Order: sequence, then C-alpha cells, then structure tokens
Amino acid sequence: MKKLLLHSCCGPCSVVPFDRMTHEGFSVATAFVNSNIHPKEEYALRIGTWMDYAKTRGIPTFEGAYDPQLWEKTVGVHGGPYPLLEAAPGYRENLAQRQVRCAACYRLRFEELASLASQNGFAAISSTLTISPYQFTPLILAELERAAHAVGLQAVAHDFSEHYAETSRRSRELGMYRQNYCGCRYSQEEAQLERAERKAARKVARKAARKGGGDLPPSEHLALASLQSFLAEGTAC
Ligand code: SF4
Repeated sequence: MKKLLLHSCCGPCSVVPFDRMTHEGFSVATAFVNSNIHPKEEYALRIGTWMDYAKTRGIPTFEGAYDPQLWEKTVGVHGGPYPLLEAAPGYRENLAQRQVRCAACYRLRFEELASLASQNGFAAISSTLTISPYQFTPLILAELERAAHAVGLQAVAHDFSEHYAETSRRSRELGMYRQNYCGCRYSQEEAQLERAERKAARKVARKAARKGGGDLPPSEHLALASLQSFLAEGTAC
C-alpha cells in the first residue's frame, strides 16, 4: 500500500480528505505543518483540535516546526500594507497582493511537508487546503506538484472542494473548534473587515426590504449589491 503524507491545515478541513485518501487505497498519515498561524495561542488551539481527533482515530500525525519568524521572512514580506484596519479603504486592492502572499505560504508549507515525507519513507503527498472555497486551488495544486517533484515524490493533487459541506457538517457534529480566518495576521484582519462589511450590507438589505428598496441613496445601493458577493465569498480557513 502506497504511503501518503497528507498536509492538515486544520481539524475541520482534514476530516473528509483523510477518509477520501484512505478510501483510495493509500496508507495515510497527516502532517500539521502550519507556521502561518497567528498568534501562537491560535496555533495551539488548531493543532490540539486535529491531534485530539487523530488520537481517537489512531491517525499517525507529524507536527512540523512551528516557525512564525520564518513565515514572516518568506511570506509576510509579500503581504503589502499592514495593519489592514488602518489601510481599510484599499484592502480590496490588496486581494491581488494576497495571491502572491498565499502562493508563498503554500510553497513554504509544502516544501516542509515534502521534506518530512521524503525523510520518513512516504511515496506521495497531498493537502487538505483545497477543500476550502476560500483558498486559491490552482495555486495550491501547482505548489504541491512543485514541492513533490523537487524531492522525487508523487503529488496527489486532489481538489476536495466538493466535500466542503460534508467536512463542515461532520466537524460541527464532532464539536471541533472552527476558526473564522485562514491563519496569518493578514487573514485575521481581512476576516474582521469582511464581517464588518457583511454586517453593514445586511443592515442595508433589511432597510431596503422595509422600504421596498426604491429610495435608497447610491451608497446604500452599493452596500446592498455587495451583500451577495460577501455572502458568497466569506472568509474562513
Ligand atoms: S491567507 Fe492563508 S494561505 Fe494566505 S498567506 Fe495567510 S495563512 Fe497563508
């Protein structure tokens, strides 16, 4: 049976991908390799959530070297203006910057994953990150391939996104801690901003529903229009 090391980004996102990979005939262990998570208390919470579940299922799990300083040096430098709350008017423009930042973040974590896999006799690597609709899946798959090939391993580049609803439901049923931002300090602020904007847009939508929507000022029409996109986008892991 081929041994596969699965990168676990967090507990809720890992439940279904672990089962899928096992179902596909791999002997699966997981690796919690996430120096992106800020602050360290949040890191402890997320790894504890996955470790507790892994223990109950007998899932072998490696913990990577938690090194936020390395993340800052290799990824944080691509982050653009910070804090975002002070630069809030431009934070949507910062989304283009976000792709650069996230690609670097995937690269850092997958290189560590591939190195762990290669040192411990695994034949293949994969990642749970693609289950989230809030991530850049093509970038994840490209970086996974890159990291695997660099050490002569197979990349099992699965897009798990069709299982997002199922993994969310199961993690809720399991009572797992469910975070509301991806992990880094930037994503924490982006999530706060987006929640604030969704709240404002919902307020406008309620007002519009009461008035029939016809006499709203242009700024409120704009907020109303953004409601749907925010509801579709959200921000989580
Ligand atoms: S948003 Fe997530 S993937 Fe992107 S840099 Fe931050 S922690 Fe990494």
